[in-house]
Amino acid sequence: MLSTMQDVPLTVTRILVHGALVHGDAKVTTWTGDGEPHRRTFREVGDRSSQLAHALRDELGVTADERVATLMWNNSDHLEAYLAIPAMGAILHTLNLRLPPEQLVWIVRHAADRVVIVNGTLLPLLAPLLPHLDSVEHVVVSGPGDRSVLEGCRPRVHDYDELIAGRPTEGYDWPELDERQAAALCYTSGTTGEPKGVLYSHRSIYLHAMEVNAAASFGLTPAEICLPVVPMFHVNAWGLPYAAFMAGTSLLMPDRFLQPAPLAAMIQSERPTVTAGVPTIWQGLLAELDTNKQDVSSLHTVISGGSACPPALMKAFEERHGLRLIQAWGMTETSPLGSVARPPAGLSEDEAWPYRVTQGRLPASVEFRLAGPGGGYLPWDGTSAGELEVRGPWIAGSYYGGAADEPFRPDDKFSPDGWLRTGDVGTMTPDGFLTLTDRAKDVIKSGGEWISSVELENHLMAHPEVAEAAVVAVPDDKWGERPLAAVVLKDGSVVEYAALRSFLGERVARWQLPERWVLIPSVPKTSVGKFDKKVLRKQYAEGELD
Ligand code: ADP
Repeated sequence: MLSTMQDVPLTVTRILVHGALVHGDAKVTTWTGDGEPHRRTFREVGDRSSQLAHALRDELGVTADERVATLMWNNSDHLEAYLAIPAMGAILHTLNLRLPPEQLVWIVRHAADRVVIVNGTLLPLLAPLLPHLDSVEHVVVSGPGDRSVLEGCRPRVHDYDELIAGRPTEGYDWPELDERQAAALCYTSGTTGEPKGVLYSHRSIYLHAMEVNAAASFGLTPAEICLPVVPMFHVNAWGLPYAAFMAGTSLLMPDRFLQPAPLAAMIQSERPTVTAGVPTIWQGLLAELDTNKQDVSSLHTVISGGSACPPALMKAFEERHGLRLIQAWGMTETSPLGSVARPPAGLSEDEAWPYRVTQGRLPASVEFRLAGPGGGYLPWDGTSAGELEVRGPWIAGSYYGGAADEPFRPDDKFSPDGWLRTGDVGTMTPDGFLTLTDRAKDVIKSGGEWISSVELENHLMAHPEVAEAAVVAVPDDKWGERPLAAVVLKDGSVVEYAALRSFLGERVARWQLPERWVLIPSVPKTSVGKFDKKVLRKQYAEGELD
């Protein structure tokens, strides 16, 4: 029989209304570079979200289900778009401003965005694309930036503040939405093939935000100040804007100041307690703090996700700056929170370390299983390695098809029984900790044995002279594939390949040691700051050594 409980939809509208009402004094501070930061309260954000919804509907004619794109940094106007667009029943579509122009064009056309809200500082990026963006009728420009580049463009141009000015701050008749309705759209960065759109629902965003706020995850409360370094165009900044608005956690928004020096400066002056970003960001911040010490003691939680966090980086932060990095795993298709590496209770630092270097422990709402190479599923014994498959209320079940008559696109990323195939290879411990050995496409298949590129990279990055290291497979006549190590040395360092090889030889089996080595000035990065091994593979697959 059914329960006797109320069935109330879980929607972004509830997050908006609750945050603005109950946590009205919480702050959104946006860094402005050298001037005074820009400050707004949650109450003001709520009022302005209402004004934005009025403007989008009454002035620009945005209707339900329509996609409204944002091409924006992390700032308070972007937060208003995050809240207003889904709450009015439309779909927030965040555009990754670091994608190559042709991919951006592809994505806007696929989503058929009619309105683009853009930061003025990004107009030089948007303006040349507009002639190719047939669906776009309105461009709404927020914040500073030279508007003259839009002169003579086809879409109508509006100023964000002027567009919303004078409209009602309350009384927007937020529709009663079905919680399963689409709220936000995010495309994978298309590392392989065409980008794929994931359409998050109100329910998935709401439940995901609650999980982000759980103490075992990021632990947001009204007592915290959260600095999302991860961009709001990278999987909704890992859900942090919604989670913070729900929890009443003040936000420190970095805007476009994502370089190590301004990051260190904003941490010292605004004293955030929780932050999150990809390892490359933390690598940069470490180098900055090593040479230019700043007070970062306000931070008690630094979340690192998006790619494997080198244990040497975790150690260096802890020993030299008293900062604790916590690893998390996820992907666009998982909203993204999949697992967080908080060790079990009651362990000493030494006992906790092996748990802290895993990709984390799975939360109650998400299920994991490991698909074995020969079919069937593998035991959680800490050693059997298979492809991770996931299921849960904030995990994608299909991709967006891009047309009203074909909203879902079939893809072999989804198993016949509806699980998401992550493409990540790893092991599980009996108590639910995931260790990824590699992405399926990065693993090095050498004579029937698999070599983990991540393991070799982690060891190399623990060498005192090495700044970054990426290991990729190159074809080999005898073994099929062998590892090639591309190494970036620290400034002014000189070290022989033989020395690096023997350093590695003390840590991994002989047959795993790379024969091929190259020194490179920096590891190429993807649009979201991850190592772009595709580029390295292309460059070195022919065995082109220096
Ligand atoms: P893309 O596939 O374009 O990189 P995503 O941001 O969705 O886009 O990336 C998800 C992938 O990032 C995961 O499938 C996994 O391979 C990798 N990843 C995320 N977090 C971690 C982590 N903590 N350790 C190792 N790999 C990670």
